[in-house]
Amino acid sequence: MKYKQSIVLFIGIILVGSFCACTKRSEEPVQMKKLKVITTLFPLYDMAKSIGAGKAEVSLLLPPGVEAHSFEPKPSDIVKINEADIFVYTGEFMEPWAEDIIKGAVNKNLIIVDASHGTTMIPGVFHDSDAPAGSLDPHIWLDFDNAKVIVKNIVQAFQLQDSVNKDFYEQKANDYRGKLTELDAVYKKTLATCKDRKIVYGGHYAFGYLATRYGLKYLAAQGVSPDAEPTANDLIKLVEQIKRDKIKYVFYEELTSPRIAETIAGETKAGLLLLNAAHNVSRDQVDQGITFFDILKKDLDNLKVGLSCQ
Ligand SMILES: [Zn+2]
Repeated sequence: MKYKQSIVLFIGIILVGSFCACTKRSEEPVQMKKLKVITTLFPLYDMAKSIGAGKAEVSLLLPPGVEAHSFEPKPSDIVKINEADIFVYTGEFMEPWAEDIIKGAVNKNLIIVDASHGTTMIPGVFHDSDAPAGSLDPHIWLDFDNAKVIVKNIVQAFQLQDSVNKDFYEQKANDYRGKLTELDAVYKKTLATCKDRKIVYGGHYAFGYLATRYGLKYLAAQGVSPDAEPTANDLIKLVEQIKRDKIKYVFYEELTSPRIAETIAGETKAGLLLLNAAHNVSRDQVDQGITFFDILKKDLDNLKVGLSCQ
């Protein structure tokens, strides 16, 4: 197990005047400027939105429905990031393109948060030969302890940019961490009762953290990034394993065609269930105001069915 060593990058934190009470005339009520926060993935967006709670304008860089691993920012996205107060990305293994943004940042007030700073990272299964040696699994938000570290990294940036509301942000972060603790306990209790202990995933290798945390086995048709298609041989092996282990359900991933999972299920008579890694959300989910917790709770419901838990 390796521990991530990189540091959170704070670029030129100059706050003088940035968060003054902005009024046209002195007799007008004091109107604080809202923090502008840009996040890459949905869990980071949900955390930042909960911490900012009306005092920040938080946006998700990924357009609705877009696959996260193949996303690259457009020039207009880079402009948007440079105009923000805080930019939160997952880390070098999820968004390798962020390095250029950090190097090229012209806004000296911008705080760039590497959300993976201080998290415990584990190796992933990489089917993609392009993955550099030493690559670690980027799906850190699917471990509740790591999720709490991410919350800490985000709240620190909020407090640096807007120290007047330091306690407000701390309270919101504590509330969020409390909800993570509660749900972790439910996951632990529920997943300890499962008769079947192997998650077979007809998608990419996204649930390594979750499986490790709750003592489950995890088999995915694809590597850490969904770019590389599974070979016929990979699929044959998976099908054989499902038959041998009498696996009842195959899980499929969010926002992509469940073609691979369907193929596997078709060969094995296994049922299909969604297991959502929450990288991004669809337009409908945005409209419904879905939260990271909604996704995690639904995942647990499906795991309960798929793994025969109580
Ligand atoms: Zn992923």
